[in-house]
Amino acid sequence: MAGWILKSVILKNTPMRTKIVAGNWKMNLNRDESLQLILDISTAIQQHDLKGNRVMVFPPFVTIGYVMDSGNRDHRIEVGAQNMHQEESGAYTGEVAAKMLSNMGVNSVILGHSERREYFNETDSLLKQKVDTARSNGLEVVFCFGEKLDERNAGNHFDVVERQLGEALFHLPGDAFETIVLAYEPVWAIGTGMTATPDQAQEMHAFIRKTLANRYSESLSNKVSILYGGSVKPDNATEIFGKPDVDGGLIGGASLKANDFVAIVKAL
Ligand code: PEP
Repeated sequence: MAGWILKSVILKNTPMRTKIVAGNWKMNLNRDESLQLILDISTAIQQHDLKGNRVMVFPPFVTIGYVMDSGNRDHRIEVGAQNMHQEESGAYTGEVAAKMLSNMGVNSVILGHSERREYFNETDSLLKQKVDTARSNGLEVVFCFGEKLDERNAGNHFDVVERQLGEALFHLPGDAFETIVLAYEPVWAIGTGMTATPDQAQEMHAFIRKTLANRYSESLSNKVSILYGGSVKPDNATEIFGKPDVDGGLIGGASLKANDFVAIVKAL
């Protein structure tokens, strides 16, 4: 009897973090190619029990609506946006506002991707504004961060990650983390074929959880999903996802091939 009570207490306190595989299509695929890809992914996962895990795709702005409304989309596949502007609206030619996304049924947005940081000069303080705007428009944020190769080689990777999280997110109240997914993406591993080893990923994810626990609480840190991103492929996904603090992956290149993406989903 005592054993049963102990077991049920442990189970009750065991974090049930949602596992996620998310595909970042970046600036790839025209409308027809996007519709074909969502059809192929949907067909391949149709019979697969996701067991509560989430599958997300992030097409470019111009194809989000087509992918979302496609009658061929398995409706368990969520469709998000890769970016948005920090202001609510206004004279920002070529930009897209958070409320335009939420109005069309988009629920999630990627913020802080290293390509946005590098090619579009997105700073931690700009990302803080974007996070606030996304939240005030009801969007879940998939927040990306991670160190560059020279920062890792200099042994600064933990400091860099702590700073990126602190400056863009730690002004938020704890309950905000119910709609924030973290994606640790070491810049040196993105699109390079150089994946972090499963142990390197685990080490950083455990550090991120500890940082969240210090700033907020242990229980909060155990509820936040932390994805790994950086050259995840079908042949390394199982090992990376097998690490205790890795809750899935943000996938770039391999998300453009239905077979690879679905194999990664099945590796969860
Ligand atoms: C990404 O861009 O978020 C990413 C992880 O890319 P890749 O999988 O191609 O490294």
